[in-house]
Amino acid sequence: MPPLRPPQPRPGIRQPPSIIPLPAPEIAPTPVRRIEQVAEDSAQALQFFANRFGPPPLRHLTISPIPGRFGQGFPGLVYVSTLSYYQPQDQPLERLSAGARLFYSEQLRAHEIAHQWWGNLVISTGYPNEWLIESLADYSALLFLEHHKGERVLQEVLDRYKSNLLAKLDTGETVESVGPIVLGERLRTSRSPKAQYTITYEKGAWVLHMLRRLMGDQKFFSLLAELRRRYEYKPISTEEFRRLAVQFLPAVPGDPNLETFFGQWVYSTGIPTLRMTHRLTGKGPRLRLAGTVKQSGVPEHFSITVPVEIQFPGRTEKTETRVQTADGEAAFSVALKLRPTRVVLDPRNSVLAIKP
Ligand SMILES: [Zn+2]
Repeated sequence: MPPLRPPQPRPGIRQPPSIIPLPAPEIAPTPVRRIEQVAEDSAQALQFFANRFGPPPLRHLTISPIPGRFGQGFPGLVYVSTLSYYQPQDQPLERLSAGARLFYSEQLRAHEIAHQWWGNLVISTGYPNEWLIESLADYSALLFLEHHKGERVLQEVLDRYKSNLLAKLDTGETVESVGPIVLGERLRTSRSPKAQYTITYEKGAWVLHMLRRLMGDQKFFSLLAELRRRYEYKPISTEEFRRLAVQFLPAVPGDPNLETFFGQWVYSTGIPTLRMTHRLTGKGPRLRLAGTVKQSGVPEHFSITVPVEIQFPGRTEKTETRVQTADGEAAFSVALKLRPTRVVLDPRNSVLAIKP
């Protein structure tokens, strides 16, 4: 019997959404042990998504193990790897990295369930836009993880995705530099066999996460609900998604049509390195915090909005200022009444950047 492989695209035939596996150990899974827990977790994910994106396409959802290292989400039927029937501490997963344990025990199942909406109700117009479907499924799974495990887990996954994007190929280039997201399947080459997965799924999830941070949670969830409502049973292109997202963007100057955002993150490559310096002058209550954010590693026209968080002693409330980066240094200056304890550049992963 030939080995199971993730489905390969065939011209003219839209392939069902799939997810490519991480390396797995040689084991004989016994998925029956955890079947009730899997059913409960799956029901919770389904309910979480239905609350945000509207009802799923079918009233029943069957979750089935498949003896491979992948998953696939059809309308009303989800296959997940038998490894997804284990908990992270179980023996078959314990030899894997922390990221792979989370992937199999939590992420893969939620990702495939999210395809009930993204990939089955809303589809893409073709391979350059397929990243949208996989990114929506992947980020929806992360939203569910964040909801029931806390924001720290979301941040850990985003950090792992960033490491994968910054990993070096034999040529010395980073995986992310292989090509923009919209190259889709064309990113998969013999020199970079994993680039298509890492870029369209993981950088794609980052793109959605950055949009969420730009517009705030309420607007972002409204965007996803409207995406389902407007494109149910219809294909969507990247440009249609951009124009829809614009309608949920707060009125911030600089990039009102998200053309710079999509130009940098979707139609091009590049992850900036950001370094912050700051100093405090004056005396309380008339203090001034002044600083710079220096950007490097990207073309000179690259510009992003990055938050700087200012924390105070014994207080939970924080002050935030936003810096628009540019080639070289961008300055910021904030009047303060209290001396801050910490000044942190982008503490909640609002931008995909290297922050040494
Ligand atoms: Zn998928």
